[in-house]
Amino acid sequence: MASEAPARAAAPAAGGRAVPVVSTHTHTNLSLCGDWEMTFDAVVDRAAELGFELLIVTDHVHSPTVTDYEQHLATSAWYRACRGVRQPPLRVVIGAEFEVVAPGRITAPADLVEAAECAVVAPNHYQCPWVQPPPGLLRDAAAFELDNLATALAWPHTDIVAHPFATTGMAPAPDDLYLACDQGRLRELLSQAVATGIALELQPKFWRAEKPASRLAQLYEDWLALGGRVALGSDAHRLVGLTRWAGDVVDICGRFGLTRDHLWWPVTKEG
Ligand SMILES: [Zn+2]
Ligand SMILES: [Zn+2]
Repeated sequence: MASEAPARAAAPAAGGRAVPVVSTHTHTNLSLCGDWEMTFDAVVDRAAELGFELLIVTDHVHSPTVTDYEQHLATSAWYRACRGVRQPPLRVVIGAEFEVVAPGRITAPADLVEAAECAVVAPNHYQCPWVQPPPGLLRDAAAFELDNLATALAWPHTDIVAHPFATTGMAPAPDDLYLACDQGRLRELLSQAVATGIALELQPKFWRAEKPASRLAQLYEDWLALGGRVALGSDAHRLVGLTRWAGDVVDICGRFGLTRDHLWWPVTKEG
């Protein structure tokens, strides 16, 4: 059952840590698009230096022609084995970023799903050639985005929906896609996500968009009003991205009046 939305706070006190610094979505160089400098040690060291409370590593799981599943499994196991010396206070969780490749279809090899301590699901990796692109008409593209969102929400392993409505530099723009979608259906999907405890991600694709995604802010306002939890994900592929995110988190929490009660926290017990 959906819980009552916690009271929204005013902006966190200056210099205070009303909101912890977290990244629920972080790449290492195990991801093809992760910078070479993103070794596990470098990422964890940087997060610790910046005072992160939680770091979730979520390397990409693409189709088997793109991702080497054996290597992904082995490297993730190695990450789990060597994170122990880092905690506490930094909690390191080894998850994965899965993706919807077409409405109703998620690339999810069973052993990688089982190994992931947290599943971030991307509904819209349209920039990847192996992902079905949205139709050309804006209204149809918006319906397609909702179909993919519904696919992510229906998957029993999903913890977080990554970058909703982000089109990653492709047309249509996130604001346009959001405004063109069936708002009644979107609301039903959001209510479903709140009921099942799935988080909606807020990340640099929204916060640092070239054309500020101002209308999309309403999505998060509605989501919070429904009692939904926000996952704060850096989606960092470079160390500088992780560093910048530590400041973004404070600004985002100030903008939306977020306290730690509004944030999504993993419930898994890391081994
Ligand atoms: Zn993604
Ligand atoms: Zn990512």
